[in-house]
Amino acid sequence: MMEIQDRVAEAASRSGRSPADVQLVAVTKTVERDMVEAAYAAGLRHFGENRVQDMRRKFEEPIGPESVVHLIGHLQTNKARDAVRYCDIIESVDRISLVDALQHRCELENRSLDVLLQVNIAGEEQKHGCSPDDIEELLDHALKQPALNVTGLMTIAPLVDDADATRPVFRGLRELRDRLQADYPNAQLTQLSMGMTNDYWIAIEEGATMIRLGRAIFEG
Ligand SMILES: *Cc1c(COP(=O)(O)O)cnc(C)c1O
Repeated sequence: MMEIQDRVAEAASRSGRSPADVQLVAVTKTVERDMVEAAYAAGLRHFGENRVQDMRRKFEEPIGPESVVHLIGHLQTNKARDAVRYCDIIESVDRISLVDALQHRCELENRSLDVLLQVNIAGEEQKHGCSPDDIEELLDHALKQPALNVTGLMTIAPLVDDADATRPVFRGLRELRDRLQADYPNAQLTQLSMGMTNDYWIAIEEGATMIRLGRAIFEG
């Protein structure tokens, strides 16, 4: 944890920001509830899960005050109900049908929900995420949903040996966000969720406001 904090602080200062501008999300997909509780006791408050079933199992009973649960994996439309019930932020909204399902479920649950739009910046075939070509249409639609607060964008960089090779992906997400923000001045696209164990310091240098770390926290 100390090493992570040091690297976050150094990378934040290289991008002219404070470490407080970078939210650490502990990705708990490989660990069980006891480790989540240990992470909470160590001071972590944001937790990320890939799958709705795992999220429900580990987080249906709240972990503690101020805990924030992020869904970061691909979400099937038929799981929208549980997603809306058991998490606070969905980072993986990547298509119009999912926006509609989430809006509908939020209405039924009488709640609002923070969402990030996931963009497939690298254009990898097997990856989920909206194509940059379609993001404007998706954003336009999402901004019209009264129960959804679109707070920014998320991407997953390709897994490569040289972390620096991911830099154009992170820069691309930031530039896309800047362009969308200019086109939609009433939107509040403040969040950039990008960077994982392999490359989080690069992502911070390029403007990440959320980093999603699994192995660095739980295998470190
Ligand atoms: C697993 C996962 C992470 C964390 O990956 P690590 O390499 O363990 O840090 C982050 N984001 C998503 C979407 C993931 O699936």
